[in-house]
Amino acid sequence: MSDRGFDATTPLAAELADLTRRRRALTDVAVPRPTTTRIIAVANQKGGVGKTTTCVNVAAALARFGAKVLVVDLDPQGNASTALGVDHHGDIPSVYDVLVGTTEIADTVVVSPENPHLLCAPSTLDLAGAEIELVTMAAREYRLARALERYRESDAGADVDYVLIDCPPSLGLLTINAFVAAREVMIPIQCEYYALEGVSQLVRNIELVKGHLNPQLALSTILLTMFDARTNLAQQVVDDVREHFADQTLHTLIPRSVRVSEAPSYGQTVIAYDSGSPGAVAYQEAAVEIARRGVTI
Ligand code: ATP
Ligand code: MG
Repeated sequence: MSDRGFDATTPLAAELADLTRRRRALTDVAVPRPTTTRIIAVANQKGGVGKTTTCVNVAAALARFGAKVLVVDLDPQGNASTALGVDHHGDIPSVYDVLVGTTEIADTVVVSPENPHLLCAPSTLDLAGAEIELVTMAAREYRLARALERYRESDAGADVDYVLIDCPPSLGLLTINAFVAAREVMIPIQCEYYALEGVSQLVRNIELVKGHLNPQLALSTILLTMFDARTNLAQQVVDDVREHFADQTLHTLIPRSVRVSEAPSYGQTVIAYDSGSPGAVAYQEAAVEIARRGVTI
């Protein structure tokens, strides 16, 4: 212990010094904008792995770096809409109306109160029925893709840099619509036991969609979430995932952080709620990696 009562060699002090350095690095980081809209489906059929948290925080971070970002909330739970401070109750125009063909995306889009570059196409509970209603509809797998094409051709959507689609925890028609609309899939994987369970099935589904419905689709990104440095298990999961998906896995690890889980209850992303917290810093670093890697995709 030093005579000022603060030992700079403790793990906590080292962690704080590291966070300060990383925060500084983010203040003048150069983040390239894509030359054409990147459409990324954030998917994992396993529940609670951090899909929505990843979707809204990466979106908010990209918007903070100057990109124009649309989040499409494709989950009837509406968690992404909530986290972006966007109303998703009652009789509002929503992604459901887009899928059944009565509304255009542009008419559903709401600007998030936290950033004028951050947009959301909200979902409502109606979407829970869409999976069944879509079954009998023409071009049922292509409905989101076509709607996004029309949006990008419209004045409102022409300059959108990123579309991030928050998928529900299933591999049903909603997720298939996301895979047909997207060029890229991002899989958040929680650093827990059984982390890789289900991922091979997910990868098979991506391959199936690529083979039959959308030849441009690629698994571009894997992001490890809710990492807890105190457990050996979390580190084992990281090593395993990096071994299986060496090219796709981001260097950035998202730590388990209370601030990340608190933010949605304030209708905010952690980027707005506490931008200097470890989770917010990590999500901004992940966004920088995604922006840079995209340049070569
Ligand atoms: P679902 O399958 O239900 O859509 P999901 O995969 O979208 O879930 P999230 O809702 O993003 O998962 O996260 C699940 C829970 O874990 C939420 O309560 C969220 O606040 C919490 N959470 C996510 N990431 C973190 C983190 N880095 N630190 C702490 N809590 C987190
Ligand atoms: Mg979710």
